[in-house]
Amino acid sequence: MNPPLTCDVAVIGGGIVGAAIARRLGGTSLSTVLVEGRDDVGDGTSKANTAILHTGFDATPGTLESTLVARGYHLLSEYASATGIPVERTSALLVAWDDEQLAALPGLCTKAEKNGYDECELVGPDEVYRRVPDLGPGALGGLTVPGESIICTWTTNLALATDAVNRGVTLLRGRRVVAVDDGSLTFADGSSLRARWVINAAGLGADKIDNLFGYDRFTVTPRRGELLVFDKLARAKVPVIVLPVPSKVGKGVLVSPTIYGNVMLGPTAEDLTDRTATGTSAAGFSFLRSKGADLMPSLLQEEVTATYAGLRAAIDRNDYLISLDASLRYVLVGGIRSTGLTAGMAIAEHVAGLLSPHLDVAPRPDLPAPPRMPNLGEAFTRPYQDAALISADPEYGRVVCFCERVTRGEIRDAYASPIPPADLDGLRRRTRAMNGRCQGFYCGAEVQALVSSRGEASSYGDASSPGDASSRGDVSSRGGASSCGGVSSRGGVSSRGDASSRGDASSRGGAR
Ligand SMILES: Cc1cc2nc3c(=O)[nH]c(=O)nc-3n(C[C@H](O)[C@H](O)[C@H](O)COP(=O)(O)OP(=O)(O)OC[C@H]3O[C@@H](n4cnc5c(N)ncnc54)[C@H](O)[C@@H]3O)c2cc1C
Repeated sequence: MNPPLTCDVAVIGGGIVGAAIARRLGGTSLSTVLVEGRDDVGDGTSKANTAILHTGFDATPGTLESTLVARGYHLLSEYASATGIPVERTSALLVAWDDEQLAALPGLCTKAEKNGYDECELVGPDEVYRRVPDLGPGALGGLTVPGESIICTWTTNLALATDAVNRGVTLLRGRRVVAVDDGSLTFADGSSLRARWVINAAGLGADKIDNLFGYDRFTVTPRRGELLVFDKLARAKVPVIVLPVPSKVGKGVLVSPTIYGNVMLGPTAEDLTDRTATGTSAAGFSFLRSKGADLMPSLLQEEVTATYAGLRAAIDRNDYLISLDASLRYVLVGGIRSTGLTAGMAIAEHVAGLLSPHLDVAPRPDLPAPPRMPNLGEAFTRPYQDAALISADPEYGRVVCFCERVTRGEIRDAYASPIPPADLDGLRRRTRAMNGRCQGFYCGAEVQALVSSRGEASSYGDASSPGDASSRGDVSSRGGASSCGGVSSRGGVSSRGDASSRGDASSRGGAR
């Protein structure tokens, strides 16, 4: 039996928050392992949200969440420019539909200022309809939030995890933590990992991991948010994010353009007990349609392309729950409920700050450049539109998924990337394949063949089955224990730059 891996820091959870923390720590001299229970990173809540890059204008002032969302907005904006994560600066418009909501708008403007955001502006009904002519009748006024933007949550998660791997982090996928004993993590498959410090960024599972450390301080309630996605033909109707005026019962239902050129309506907010209940429901569908009928009746004439649901990791307090226990060498990052996409990088910075009295978290001087991610944004040039790219490599001209215009070149690249997809859904998150109007009805067979051949167009059907260990790209299964390294007495790791860990991840390049 192989000896357990060892490292300075193990980060549990390969969502946006865990990937951001692993990336931050991967930029130090500490050996870091990112542990994900599912077969892929970004397969939990981080894949199914409304994908808005929030300014934090409506956060509760004075909370940790308000500080980290505001900071995360700037950090992720800069990071998106550096890596090619698509962002559209659409702006948002809160719309008041009754006198009570209208009366609440000035207070929201003041709240935004308390949160350090002073760009909101109150507007009358004429301006509301000038900005969104297709809104339903009865809008009384609005509040503009120029900085609110839409972003690709899939690319964000993947960029952070890829960057982490490029920086030397060992990524273990398909390793669900089931036991913790004095710095030793045991996975469901029986393997284990010894870590000096453990960071719990397990999202919906964060309270269970917390229990393994002997705590009983919070319970995660999965709060389901269902959404409807409308066809791209609806996109012109929704030039900005249309937000409801928040009430005591939540943020309410919004209508928003998506980064892939569609329109979404949602989310619902429903507390459940089942942490795996990501299915949509007939009740949610009718609720959203009735909301949509008031907000924008003509939207309901458009085709619904897809429905999906995400689970917010709600806890019984109105803030993030981030706390360090030096005696256990353990950090809890819990309750990252509805703003974690935006705040992820700031949470990582905050966690590094908490660790700094205990570990050397100073950035290394020799960091690799951030990865350049494939563009999934509809507003920016895609490979099928790029004549120069196609003439250099005709695979970018061979469209496989016609709804979303995804080419063989992009699918090939996804499999050659540092973190290749584990299954069809993972491929969809990396390329948009099968994400369109036909939902794979026309392209499914060809995409499946490319999955089977790991993106090699010339060898359909002759390769390993999807989802096997090699297709998961589990870095440890390639680099073995040496990729993680032994923990030195100073906390630095001698094999930190070892060829197996770094070369394996970065030499496969992937991102164009
Ligand atoms: C409907 C909805 C809309 C939202 N809209 C927005 C928005 O517009 N903007 C915004 O900023 N935020 C939004 N959010 C919030 C945002 O999506 C989350 O805050 C964020 O994705 C949380 O990331 P995470 O890494 O904490 O969790 P996750 O993405 O869930 O990652 C946690 C990971 O931990 C893994 N894990 C759990 N237990 C274990 C274990 N025992 N062993 C190993 N791994 C484990 C899971 O498999 C999972 O991959 C929304 C959320 C929802 C549900």
